[in-house]
Amino acid sequence: MSGGPEASDELGMRLKTYEGRAAAVAGQGKDPVNLPMIRHWCEAMGDTNPAYEGPDAMAPPTMLQAWTMGGLSGHSGRSAAFDELLGLLDEAGCTSVVATDCEQEYVRALRPGDEVTFDTVIESVSERKTTKLGTGYFVTTRTDVRAGPDRALAGTHRFRILKYAPAARSRPQEQPRRPRPVVNRDNAGFWEGVEQHRLLIQRCTSCTTLRFPWLPGCNACGALDWDTLEASGEGTVYSYVVMHHPPFPAFDPPYAVALVELAEGVRMISNVIGTPYDKVHIGLPVHLEFQRYDDELVLPVFRAREEVA
Ligand SMILES: [Zn+2]
Repeated sequence: MSGGPEASDELGMRLKTYEGRAAAVAGQGKDPVNLPMIRHWCEAMGDTNPAYEGPDAMAPPTMLQAWTMGGLSGHSGRSAAFDELLGLLDEAGCTSVVATDCEQEYVRALRPGDEVTFDTVIESVSERKTTKLGTGYFVTTRTDVRAGPDRALAGTHRFRILKYAPAARSRPQEQPRRPRPVVNRDNAGFWEGVEQHRLLIQRCTSCTTLRFPWLPGCNACGALDWDTLEASGEGTVYSYVVMHHPPFPAFDPPYAVALVELAEGVRMISNVIGTPYDKVHIGLPVHLEFQRYDDELVLPVFRAREEVA
């Protein structure tokens, strides 16, 4: 990926020859358009539009891509040309990929029972571009989604990725540091407490409802005035996830991220330290500690109250 004027971009010229070639032909949706998927999508999005319910339901137009997704097992219909294109980019060191944008056009509504088919074309490959992430090429594919007995066009889905060679880290020698918390007027009191090794919970002075994380007003009564209650530090793991991927600088996966329910009743996200990630479990009793990560950063963390076998 040596620099230089566009004219010397031989790879780019070769990539351009893939424009207009098929990326997938006669793909088939894994399921027909169906109410359970529509309902799950609406619940996840918080979309209560009545057009998406009942016997005459239509699918939310923005679900267009959901009907063509291959899931974890993928689709078999990807063309050799698209594999070649991605292979050329990989060989040139453009091994990283990031989705940059998506445009959709809705031609007609999809309804439960519609069987979906799709064709995808490599619409364009950009010239070589240098971004903050690195240098590479934008690859745009367009998927035409068809449905119904007449295979009428239901919509198009244009998807753009950047395939790139990651830019070298500017300070590769330095040990990566944990991300800094965003301290603002609404939560400054919390972080002042942490500096003094105190975990402070906000309490509404009007209705005494506790709240965490810190907010400018009370969700229960709307009052703006508050004081604080210092947490006893006792709690239990209410829920957790184990992070395997993606890796973030300064974190060493796998590790458990816990939602800890404090004895006072509010919940906070934190790390459980001193316990292997696969021994963290719901209901695990934990207590608060303050862990110093570097000369600027102290964070509240939790340790299992008893040794976990
Ligand atoms: Zn209140």
